[in-house]
Amino acid sequence: MSQRITHWVDGRAVDGTSGRTAPVFNPATGQRTAEVDLASVQEVEAAVASATAAAAEWRHASLSQRSAVLFAFRELLHQRTDELAAIITAEHGKVLSDAAGEIARGLENVEFATGVPALLKGGFSEQAATGVDVYNMRQPLGVVAGITPFNFPAMVPLWMCANAIACGNAFVLKPSEKDPSAALFLARLWQEAGLPDGVFTVVQGDKVAVDAILDHPGIAAVSFVGSTPIAKYIYERGTAAGKRVQALGGAKNHALVLPDADVDMAADAVVSAAYGAAGERCMALSVAVAVGDVAEPLVDAIAARLPKLTVGNGADPDTDMGPLITAEHRDKVAGYVEAGEAAGASVVVDGRTGDHPQEGFFLGTTLLDHVTPEMTVYTDEIFGPVLSVVRVDTYDEGLALINANQYANGTAIFTRDGGAARRFQYDVEVGMVGINVPIPVPVAYYSFGGWKDSLFGDTHMYGPEGISFYTRGKVVTQRWPDPATSSVDLGFPRTR
Ligand code: NAD
Repeated sequence: MSQRITHWVDGRAVDGTSGRTAPVFNPATGQRTAEVDLASVQEVEAAVASATAAAAEWRHASLSQRSAVLFAFRELLHQRTDELAAIITAEHGKVLSDAAGEIARGLENVEFATGVPALLKGGFSEQAATGVDVYNMRQPLGVVAGITPFNFPAMVPLWMCANAIACGNAFVLKPSEKDPSAALFLARLWQEAGLPDGVFTVVQGDKVAVDAILDHPGIAAVSFVGSTPIAKYIYERGTAAGKRVQALGGAKNHALVLPDADVDMAADAVVSAAYGAAGERCMALSVAVAVGDVAEPLVDAIAARLPKLTVGNGADPDTDMGPLITAEHRDKVAGYVEAGEAAGASVVVDGRTGDHPQEGFFLGTTLLDHVTPEMTVYTDEIFGPVLSVVRVDTYDEGLALINANQYANGTAIFTRDGGAARRFQYDVEVGMVGINVPIPVPVAYYSFGGWKDSLFGDTHMYGPEGISFYTRGKVVTQRWPDPATSSVDLGFPRTR
């Protein structure tokens, strides 16, 4: 019998009662390894009731108590990174070092949140008017929820829950049903770190659970990360129900390679950013825009590197790239390559015929050249190990191409010219920009977010904007009579 993956409510694993489950696979072997419970509306309601009771207590925990829990959680996560990485690799397929990398990036968010006493400090204005002082505070919202994608089963929940909990909220996580075990591991670590039961809850599920979260009047805010159509849906339905919503969507990240770029450096960077995690990263580079003469040497340099990447089971330390998440997704990605070829792109390296295991959901690295903007391989988010090269004549043409794209998550420029890089960072209409840095995911003390169809809502995720998202501002204006003029006998001299 395959393993059962349950909910986590009130500090314990709770079996689902809906009678609905979904299969979980090891994408490297194609084996069905577990069944995950899918919550009903009633199960979501029970979980939110527990979180509501916990939130009422947790908001009164002192700032030092909260940061003590966060420090303990940070230590546990650090110590048990290898265990969690193995869980991620077994359900997602990414290589172990990459799984450990996602935990390290998530840990940064926990470390940021340990500073919550400083982060929640307000301002104070003495004597705003005669005898009047004004100050502000930020208070928790109550119960907040996170709905997360399959591609970062630990990091994306940590983007959200560390700050939400530090700010005094209870957090309900609805992880991806494709790799749901990392969420339960995090729940157990939170408990071990001393977090009161009910402050971190996991509801496993699909659209039924998501809709129940979006409609629940007891949930004040929803953070979402996933594909653009679902992000838009979450934003519209959640805000219609009166919630705060930040919904991060899909991406099509371009690298702009100028003629003066260091071709070897650019090729190394583009290869790691296009094919790492089999391209299943929202910050993956999926288009290289080659300006002028750099196209030929760039394509050659990328093509030369691809045969050196070992495609296989991510649990094997010699593997560079693992499988895709499901057989359906693998076939969809291969379909894009086919469509690109049929539309006239040259297939320089063909992952469909690559040297990779036949069992499991594998597709090799693919490089397409002479891609043009009307091809589906260019217009759509592919989310697989496919890099498209678009050739342009000038910097302006490249910039215009990037700015015309519906997605605007991340981008990177490769050049030796500081003036061109400086101009690009201001001119490009994208939320996160790398200068000779292929994956410009902001460190945890900045905030993460794209523009246009890559983000619905007005707040970016984690960092200072995360603290603001998970709290409400309050301003107090106070007047006290001056003892010097008071008629009450205070028992001490009324002089200044
Ligand atoms: P997805 O949109 O299919 O799923 C995300 C979450 O939404 C999951 O928890 C899923 O259960 C839920 N969901 C799916 N369909 C739903 C529906 N019809 N109604 C309600 N809920 C639904 O995304 P995914 O395939 O898990 O993840 C990959 C996508 O996430 C890619 O598009 C990628 O670019 C994006 N992503 C974006 C970022 C970012 O920061 N912008 C980060 C990571 C991933």
